Amino acid sequence: MERNHLIKPTLDQDYPTISHGNGIYLYDTDGKQYIDGSSGAVTASIGHGVLDIVEAMTEQARKVSFAYRSHFTSGAAEALAKKLSELAPGDLNWSFFVNSGSEATETAMKIAIQHWQEKGFERKNRIISRWTSYHGITMGALSMSGHVPRRKRFVPLLEDFPSISAPYCYRCPHNNETSGCKLKCADELETAIQRVGSENIAAFIAEPIIGASAGAVTPPDGYYQRIKEICETYDILFIADEVMTGIGRTGKMFAMEHWGVTPDIIALGKGMSAGYTPIAATMITDRVMEPILKGSKSIMAGHTYSANPLSAAISLEVLSYIERNDLVRAAEEKGQYLFKKLQGLAEKFDIIGDVRGKGLLLGLEFVSDRVSKTPFDLQIGLTPRLVNKAFAKGLIIYPAAGAIEGIAGDAVIISPPLIITNEEIDRLVMILEASLDELQQELHA
Ligand code: PLP
Repeated sequence: MERNHLIKPTLDQDYPTISHGNGIYLYDTDGKQYIDGSSGAVTASIGHGVLDIVEAMTEQARKVSFAYRSHFTSGAAEALAKKLSELAPGDLNWSFFVNSGSEATETAMKIAIQHWQEKGFERKNRIISRWTSYHGITMGALSMSGHVPRRKRFVPLLEDFPSISAPYCYRCPHNNETSGCKLKCADELETAIQRVGSENIAAFIAEPIIGASAGAVTPPDGYYQRIKEICETYDILFIADEVMTGIGRTGKMFAMEHWGVTPDIIALGKGMSAGYTPIAATMITDRVMEPILKGSKSIMAGHTYSANPLSAAISLEVLSYIERNDLVRAAEEKGQYLFKKLQGLAEKFDIIGDVRGKGLLLGLEFVSDRVSKTPFDLQIGLTPRLVNKAFAKGLIIYPAAGAIEGIAGDAVIISPPLIITNEEIDRLVMILEASLDELQQELHA
């Protein structure tokens, strides 16, 4: 009865109650073990139950957990901002702390607009984004998102920002398979800027690798270099939403490093605290900060819990743990191992159309016909069925939203904690294989 007071994601569904976690494993109160094959929502990157974090948490809590940011700064928040500036590429030297990825992208949007206002460009306030994207659940973040199911009830209240195609190579929006990629999806940005007028646009926002809305969709090489070039030509800021990809997940500390591109603004979340506390950040370059420093000297954003000492101390220890244990390199190495294993599954199951992603942010897309890449009929509910089968067998994988609501193909994300061993990957893949076997048998029945 007590559990009925909590509004859960799906109200007619029964959820097991979590008991505890250890490493890549979670346990429910019935004692059932689950491999956290998606790190929750691509978050628990250092695994569960890490005592170093508990100690850092306790140490900070003993001193002070909360002091309002308008009254005090803290050693923990200062140190975290410094650490992030050392880790980030280029001159992304400034951090503004918030509590969730949605707040980080929403703040990125506001800072971009404020940057131009401080320079006297009052009308530069539109943000271009991509269809097939997810930047968060708050109204500003949703306005920048192409996540149809999460948007649809609120469309009349959302900003009508311009959108361009995603670099979705498996289903190339420009049919480049025969003619070769000419990065036309990047050039769409230039067309959109010319149509809307650069005097009206503050920024372009993109997830380096598209996560929740499509399942680890990875752009072709050269895409972000071209995007950055276009942004510079037209004086548009480039915001990289690294909420899912940031802090080692893809085998680099920041995913944009794969393409050697430094964004003007980065949004971070999830892996920043690996799930040990809610904290997120918006990082900005010296160039973006300069007019604000000279002008109003205050960023018009922030929340009660922004930069609270407790969350900052936890995040700082998570970053230190990642460095001490070389987990960014581990993400790359284990990612390659897992990628090969998933390719092995694709040889066995012809419903796997695409294996993609970088590091330990990997995705599988499913098709009813591999040659024509025909998606499954939505009525089949392929993704939820696979996810549920795996869950029943003790493996958590993450359904891409498109697969549930039909905005892209059926797809799942596989993104275990970066501490996973090869033996644990073998176990993960074994359960996935058994789930796919069962599903395939049902489809052929
Ligand atoms: N941006 C990206 C790329 C995400 O994947 C997410 C969440 O999945 C968000 C923003 C929103 O983050 P949060 O759920 O912490 O608000």
